[in-house]
Formats: sequence, structure tokens, C-alpha cells
Amino acid sequence: MAHHSRQLILLLLFKLQNSNMEKEFTIRYKLIQEQHLAAVEQNLYDEAVAALEKSYSPYSNFKVACSILLENGAVVSGANQEVASYPVSLCAEGVALSAASSLHPGKGIQAMFIVTKNSTGIIRETVAPCGVCRQRIVEYETRQGKSISIYLLANTSNVVVFNSAKDLLPFAFDSHHLPIKNV
Ligand SMILES: [Zn+2]
Repeated sequence: MAHHSRQLILLLLFKLQNSNMEKEFTIRYKLIQEQHLAAVEQNLYDEAVAALEKSYSPYSNFKVACSILLENGAVVSGANQEVASYPVSLCAEGVALSAASSLHPGKGIQAMFIVTKNSTGIIRETVAPCGVCRQRIVEYETRQGKSISIYLLANTSNVVVFNSAKDLLPFAFDSHHLPIKNV
């Protein structure tokens, strides 16, 4: 009997701990039919598709392009740039972000549209930024104190929109975790 009640207590403790610790994380995103994109979104998509031609990807044959809409209305784009020493290659998102902050310093980024293409054509499924780029975009969001909308193709007829890079990188590490420095 004593043994039985001990088991019961352990079971209860286990259940209590579990119910205390289990949390849920919800990510909200939008699906927009391509034909219903606003003019500014359509333009951002067209710029990303055009930027695929700037890709230098002889090793992977996987083209990635990214267009960026700035708060001043300017659109900047970039594409992946590969190097024979593979890890040195640059992602399209990084190229575009660097271009945006170099050409329009201090201007906030509102949105990014990322498209990919292989030998069969534009990939009409959700191809999201790699982990490194998610971290990069979070850095820009932290810098400007405003979220950046991320547009990707979802399938043959829809676009998926995330409201923030943090939705793609939950519990992100950012400058808030570092000690304050005197600049
Ligand atoms: Zn990347």
C-alpha cells in the first residue's frame, strides 16, 4: 500500500511538472493569393524575380534572390554569390541587406521578398531563409526597432507573409543579451 501511494505521488508530481512546463508557441502568417498582391508587393516580387539573374551559383545551380523595400520607397535587390570555397559564399538576403544599408544608410527596411530558382524554373513552394540569414534579419529588426515583413512563395498560386524574422527564429539571440557598451 505504501509502495502504491508513493508511485501515485511520483506520478502526480510528474504530471504537475509537465503541466507547469509545457508551453505552446504560435506563429501567425498570412497567405495571399498572388493575384491579390498590392501593387507595391507585386513590384517587390517582380524585382526579386529580376534579381535572380544576378545570381552567381555555378556550383549549386540554385539561384536565390531577395528584394528589399525601404521606408523611403526605394527597392534594392541582391542574389546569392558562390565561391569555389563553398562556405565563403554569400546568401542573397545578406547581399541585399548589405546593399540596402550601404546605398540607403539609416533607412528602415519594411519588407523583403525572397525567391529561388533551380534548373526547372522558379521554385513554387516555401523556401525560407537559412538560419544564418534569419539571424541577420533579426539584427536589422533590432537595429531599426521595427519588424520586417518576409514574403516567400508558398505554392503555385499563393504567397506566404511572415510579420517578422523573429517568427522564423523564435527565442532569437540579439544585442539585448550582450552587456551595454560605451560607444
Ligand atoms: Zn542564408
